[in-house]
Amino acid sequence: MSVCEDMLLCNYRKCRVKLSGYAWVTACSHIFCDQHGSGEFSRSPAVCPACNSALSGKLDIVRTELSPSEEHKAMVLAGLRPETVLDISSRALAFWTYQVNPP
Ligand SMILES: [Zn+2]
Ligand SMILES: [Zn+2]
Repeated sequence: MSVCEDMLLCNYRKCRVKLSGYAWVTACSHIFCDQHGSGEFSRSPAVCPACNSALSGKLDIVRTELSPSEEHKAMVLAGLRPETVLDISSRALAFWTYQVNPP
């Protein structure tokens, strides 16, 4: 498997499409294309198709826009404390690192 450094790939085993537009991210650090995310996570209880983790929490599955608008970027973290901003950033970076360089 090659490591793609500027785009993540759908973690659905038979898909592996380069992700753009919207993607579904999970609390178990997996990410799926819009097609597989909406298909797999519409049933309940939701289970991660990559690692079989149960995803029952409200924020265990989030559909996210991979290239948010300037307006969204300008506002989404506004008002949060600096340590909260950094906490969110470091978790997002850990997610990315896990995806491009799995343990
Ligand atoms: Zn997919
Ligand atoms: Zn998973």
